[in-house]
Amino acid sequence: MTQQPLNPDFDATVLGYPRIGADRELKKALEAHWAGKISLDELHAAAGQVQLADLTRLAGLGLDAAGGALPGDVAYYDQVLETTAALSAVPSRFSGVIGERIGTAEAFVLARGDEANAPLELTKWFDTNYHYLVPEIGPGTAFVADPERLVANHAAHAAAGFELRPTLVGPLTYLLLAKAEDGAPEGFSPLERLDDAVAAYASLLAALGAAGVKLVQLDEPGLVTEEGAKLAADGSTVTRVYSALAAVQSAPRLFVTSGYGTAGDPARPGHVQGELARAGVAVVHADLVRGAAPAAAHLGELNGATLVAGVVNSRNIWRNRLGESLAALRTLQAEVTEAGGALAVGTATSLQHVPHTVAAETALPEHLPAWLAFADEKVAEVVTLAKGLREGDAAIAAELAADAEAHAARAAFAGTSVAAVRERLAALTPEDLERADAEERRAAQAAALGLPPLPTTTIGSFPQTAEVRKARAGARSGALSEAEYEAFLKAEIERVVRFQEELGLDVLVHGEAERNDMVQYFAENFDGYAPTTRGWVQSYGSRSTRPAILWGDVSRPRAFTVPWISYAASLTEKPLKGMLTGPVTILAWSFVRDDQPLEVSAQQVALALRDEIEDLQAAGIGIIQVDEPALRELLPLRAEAQPDYLRWSVDSFRLATAGADTATQIHTHLCYSEFGEVVGAIDALDADVTSIEAARSRMEVTGDLAEFGFSRGIGPGVYDIHSPRVPSTEEIDELLAEALKRLTPEQLWVNPDCGLKTRAYPETEASLRHLVEAAAKARAAI
Ligand code: GLN
Ligand code: ZN
Repeated sequence: MTQQPLNPDFDATVLGYPRIGADRELKKALEAHWAGKISLDELHAAAGQVQLADLTRLAGLGLDAAGGALPGDVAYYDQVLETTAALSAVPSRFSGVIGERIGTAEAFVLARGDEANAPLELTKWFDTNYHYLVPEIGPGTAFVADPERLVANHAAHAAAGFELRPTLVGPLTYLLLAKAEDGAPEGFSPLERLDDAVAAYASLLAALGAAGVKLVQLDEPGLVTEEGAKLAADGSTVTRVYSALAAVQSAPRLFVTSGYGTAGDPARPGHVQGELARAGVAVVHADLVRGAAPAAAHLGELNGATLVAGVVNSRNIWRNRLGESLAALRTLQAEVTEAGGALAVGTATSLQHVPHTVAAETALPEHLPAWLAFADEKVAEVVTLAKGLREGDAAIAAELAADAEAHAARAAFAGTSVAAVRERLAALTPEDLERADAEERRAAQAAALGLPPLPTTTIGSFPQTAEVRKARAGARSGALSEAEYEAFLKAEIERVVRFQEELGLDVLVHGEAERNDMVQYFAENFDGYAPTTRGWVQSYGSRSTRPAILWGDVSRPRAFTVPWISYAASLTEKPLKGMLTGPVTILAWSFVRDDQPLEVSAQQVALALRDEIEDLQAAGIGIIQVDEPALRELLPLRAEAQPDYLRWSVDSFRLATAGADTATQIHTHLCYSEFGEVVGAIDALDADVTSIEAARSRMEVTGDLAEFGFSRGIGPGVYDIHSPRVPSTEEIDELLAEALKRLTPEQLWVNPDCGLKTRAYPETEASLRHLVEAAAKARAAI
């Protein structure tokens, strides 16, 4: 074994770790604090405990407690907000409520708003389901280093023997993710403030260095996006920023990461890492899972820098193929050594996107745990791979054998490849994606449904009261028998149907009381899919989701929405709309298998939904809504990958829905109002009616749709369900009038922006009354 240099300080690290606590302790502490039950000091103490437990676990799993291998990604609410706080970048609109410093209390004001101020906007962190708080930057935003929290956090854990590396979003990414604050001059870009921001980062680094911090992590995933790649293209910006930061007197050494893809020009992988190393950055990183491995030709002279090779996938839950990873690492190690650098093993991104540990799962199908790796198991993989690199295969022989065995078992497992599912996919033809002509459908549906113009409806869910949640929990725990639960749900459905009849809505729904969440319910009812019990992943702030695991070929053993939906339909003369979640959304909010293209999994889910639609239709349901709120969410970050994604995602929706009869009306629902690059795709879904978010933007989207020539039914939401505020009838009148300027009365539907699940009944009732009233007025006027 030739000994090649590994980073002298650490040879294994992870970019970040779940921050919510193995038992969601941080969530509980945050919510207790917001409810006034615990003080800020108690919250700090609770968060410190969570972090200490995490660090102890990481060290126990084999990450070096000294030398900077431990991530210091502390954040109570959001990592971008932490950086906003460290830079004291108070948005001007908050200057009256927040002083010059953003401490924890002030950060919560930014995150959650107050009576007078809406919170910072939440938006998706790259192509993940994590949401960050968007910085608002203007020409006058002050950037003042506030190292206090980072220093204190470092010191607290150093005392316990953990030398962690403070982590911040890097300056380029921070500004790329920011938006121009309201009132900024036309055309202003936050990036215009780069030099000022860099000066504040420099002060932060100086303060951290003075406090004894040796390594600081700056995350620059922004460099993998289209815009960031342009910024990085010639290297001069990257060089300017990082030369300045690396040159700060007595600053800690820098570790710059770039997960979620290939940084800079994808044709020159390694180019950005080379630039960074030349600028004086000590440790650089590349995502070898989503991105390309850096090519020696583009790395340039590494000047003794370390490349952290992100080989362990931190976005999914499958165990690593250790043998393959080791081979790739050895090749890279030779090249990196040749370029004058050293290698360390790491994760593609932070592990914040996966749950804590497989060991906590008690209800997975028996075959599954051995195939999986959550955060802790991934840390162990990183440590194992580093050991293999250092000491040779023999040193990790047991791990390699266990790994080979698990992967062989997975490949051979009956549910991994199900002949009936495969044959059905192989037999698909283009006709399976086609429905009758839209005009023919419109006429058949009009005759079948007999709806008035401007029909009123809702998006599906009704308020999930404490009672509903309690009954569902009772059914899960066994406190409620199956018969009792069924009786409860039927009573709830009847109540919701009567409520809608009384309000005078035209198209009713069953209310979705049986669904905890719009994806997990499907995972529970499909073969090849398994929900987790403790697999929480932070979505934003104190909120987490529990993505299910799509592990095998998917099919639907029996109709599962039909009993509830047809029961609801039996209670009323009005048309009742059945509710399903679309294939792309089901995939987007799950952990998907890594052994076949996403497109194939999407087709399988689509066929399962197609079966359900056929059964709903056979049960007399004439309107079926297939929700695709995540269609835009999975859109690849790089433009070159977008057309292919849009092709298969649209096709999967069409495959799910095209089996419907001409007279069956297919609806879809999308949870956003800015269609941009996906407007063509939304049109191509070929749904008979598309409902969208529109209230907050005052129907702006109807203009975009009209301009595009969208000709089928559209329900631009007239009621913003994201807050308890009740819109007045007049307000809705105006929105409808606005919509009717661009849409024909035949096209327009009247509905809220989204499901009512998170609302309470009083505001729901008042708002829907106004909605029905406004629709009646508008109808009379046409
Ligand atoms: N039908 C779902 C509901 O009403 C849609 C939810 C969503 O779009 N996120 O809850
Ligand atoms: Zn929605």
